[in-house]
Amino acid sequence: MLYGLRGWIGKLLPRGPFFCNLCGYQGTIWLWRGHDNQAIRKYQIIGAGRRKCDCFACGSSDRDRLVYEFLKNEISDFSCMKILHVAPERQLNKKLTSLGAKMINIDARKSGYKFAYGSETITADLTCLPFESETFDWVIANHVLEHIVDEKRALSEIKRVLKPQGKAILMIPYSPILSSRIEGELNWTKYQRNELLGQHDHVRLYGLDFLESWRETFEVVKLIDVRSPQELIVLNGEKIILVEKQQ
Ligand SMILES: [Zn+2]
Repeated sequence: MLYGLRGWIGKLLPRGPFFCNLCGYQGTIWLWRGHDNQAIRKYQIIGAGRRKCDCFACGSSDRDRLVYEFLKNEISDFSCMKILHVAPERQLNKKLTSLGAKMINIDARKSGYKFAYGSETITADLTCLPFESETFDWVIANHVLEHIVDEKRALSEIKRVLKPQGKAILMIPYSPILSSRIEGELNWTKYQRNELLGQHDHVRLYGLDFLESWRETFEVVKLIDVRSPQELIVLNGEKIILVEKQQ
């Protein structure tokens, strides 16, 4: 069903306790997202799992709303911001565009996914970005790095295209009970990846050691607990993963 139509239906629904900060929906119907499996349960993976969190009216996820809640407190004037949005989440992208941010969107368009992107999203590889150095104020690349074998090169490319004092939100699924990441072998099947890493096309499962290893590239790497209004329906204990380039 088209989201425009859902928006109208949403206005007719009784008001519930939860609120979508991207479209204003506050109805009682929320939709399921994600999948569950052995690895997600065993490693208590943050940012994964089956949950009822998608906005009925606009389709945004709990993560989209969390990122927007963080950014709207962080950025006072979006019209001054040039943002590289990797694998752009539709509703978040639309919101930032409406606030005047200059959005440059890219996706690798790997097979196996449905893409709603038009020509406004450039096909590009995060390990070899087609942009000059120091181009962007922000980079947003959520749930992307766990798909990339050469993670170090992707991080270094993100740093290269950021302006000095630039920041990036790099959310990943990670296990808070694993001290070291599990790297998948290149010959692992989709079944093995699903069972051992949490998803059939992930190349690794991050442990908390990413905080330290990413500091080899970025001066600042931190987890930020966004204090959201109670009605903002943010689940799973997900936090913002922020990196900063100081120079
Ligand atoms: Zn919404």
